Amino acid sequence: MSENMKRVLTGIRPTGPLHLGHYVGALKQWVLLQDEYECFFMIADVQALTTHAGNPKVIEESVRDVLLDFLAVGLDPTKPNVHFILQSAIPELAELTVYLSMVTPFTWMQSNPTIQQESKALGKGISTGFMCYPVSQAADILFVSPDPTESKEEILVPVGEDQVPHLRDTNSIVSAFNRTYSPTFNECKPLLGDYPRLVGTDGQLKMSKSLGNCINLGDDEKTVEKMVKGMFTDPNRIHPNDPGTVEGNPVFIYHDIFNPDKKEVCDLKKRYKDGTVGDVEVKEKLNVAIQSFLKPIRERRKHAEKMDIKKFLEDGTDFARGLAVKTLSRTRKAMHLDYPSLK
Ligand code: ATP
Ligand code: MG
Repeated sequence: MSENMKRVLTGIRPTGPLHLGHYVGALKQWVLLQDEYECFFMIADVQALTTHAGNPKVIEESVRDVLLDFLAVGLDPTKPNVHFILQSAIPELAELTVYLSMVTPFTWMQSNPTIQQESKALGKGISTGFMCYPVSQAADILFVSPDPTESKEEILVPVGEDQVPHLRDTNSIVSAFNRTYSPTFNECKPLLGDYPRLVGTDGQLKMSKSLGNCINLGDDEKTVEKMVKGMFTDPNRIHPNDPGTVEGNPVFIYHDIFNPDKKEVCDLKKRYKDGTVGDVEVKEKLNVAIQSFLKPIRERRKHAEKMDIKKFLEDGTDFARGLAVKTLSRTRKAMHLDYPSLK
């Protein structure tokens, strides 16, 4: 590990294949960061259990999907500074979670807006593990913290908008811990992508596995075409010659992001507003743009399917574990759990 490189820690839950929202909100930035930083890309299987405890098979199978998606978008674990890590295989993270939870008032969890929103969506039967996952996420981030007595470098965390409250909690935990004991962790800083929240194909606020409104990075051409054809547009526009609304219209949001032919997008928008283009043509052109965006991703995935992907995860996790052991020993020492008086 290079001592001079700033550290990046970020993760994704293996609860299904990754989609365009993950790409624009997270993965796209990760690919750029791997050229400059010491990067830890976590497959957060323990965090996946917060909502999928009863579905272990989904998690088990998704780990492979996520690994392939990582490689397909161009993450490169053969670089010495890029580490793919599996959360459950670093038991030190669970121990760190317990210690951090002692300086975390439960009210912080209850007032976290993402927790509030997600628990509303989950309804009854929310687990303790779910309510406290921001603490576990703090441990996931802070295990890569440099020792503050040696370096003040903050940890960079590229995330989507929904994760910002969790990072705020992480920093509050850092202050509480350092104040209660001694300087042990540095703070983290969110890095938001260009599109911190991509709408779903159904027009809902967020493209999300659980809402079934996704175009997956691994979808074949036919599936993508079907999703694009079925996309939500301007609900008030009945006929192709009705003037339509472009702002906030998912089809045009996607055109802006995925169609590199800006002239074509401009022309489509104008004709849509004037009522001189039908949804069919707008969607056909979007389909072409998304298919060509996905083409190199599909090719890299094919190549990755032949690789020993398990080895990438094992090597990265081993490396991260070495760091976690060090951080945990610093933490225990700060909390007097190394029992100097018994030595
Ligand atoms: P899903 O809702 O599909 O289950 P998720 O939010 O549970 O996805 P996570 O593993 O929690 O997936 O998120 C991984 C990263 O991807 C986070 O940084 C999150 O903010 C980002 N992300 C997920 N969905 C979107 C989206 N629709 N737009 C932008 N970023 C997203
Ligand atoms: Mg999430």
